[in-house]
Amino acid sequence: MKLPKTHPDIASHTIEMDKKKNIGLVAHDFRKRDLLDWAEYNSDLLKEHNLFGTGTTGGLIAEKLNLPVHRFMSGPLGGDLQIGAAIAESNLDILIFFWDPLQAQPHDVDVKSLLRIAIVYNIPLACNRSSADFLISSELMQSSYERFVVDYGKRLKELGEKNG
Ligand code: PGA
Repeated sequence: MKLPKTHPDIASHTIEMDKKKNIGLVAHDFRKRDLLDWAEYNSDLLKEHNLFGTGTTGGLIAEKLNLPVHRFMSGPLGGDLQIGAAIAESNLDILIFFWDPLQAQPHDVDVKSLLRIAIVYNIPLACNRSSADFLISSELMQSSYERFVVDYGKRLKELGEKNG
């Protein structure tokens, strides 16, 4: 498949995503049912990949789909940060994160940090069901993919020089 090219000034390097992807699954309490329905509907596609989740979300998905899910800690106890660290270390390829748009979380700073790190490492990110449907049904899910990582080091240096 022909993949888009990016300018060398923008990307510093690429990360190879295997055919079999590592998918992170997280949902706030109000969105858990939505994520579970989605996961059940797409279980044939999801079972081709490695699944990871925050404590409660991961447990519910493992039970509903009868599939192995690596469970991190519960979100409010550090699970979001663990997922973020796994993204930064190139151990997670995709994030499905159904966050609650109507209620602030006790761990809002962690939520923001997770969303931020998903952008920094340019991983596919879906925060609602239609995006998750488009993502999971993409033909790129069945093949390897070279993911560009933006050269933030260069940008940080430029910002540092500008700010003295
Ligand atoms: P949980 O965490 O799956 O343990 O409920 C989700 C979250 O609040 O980030």
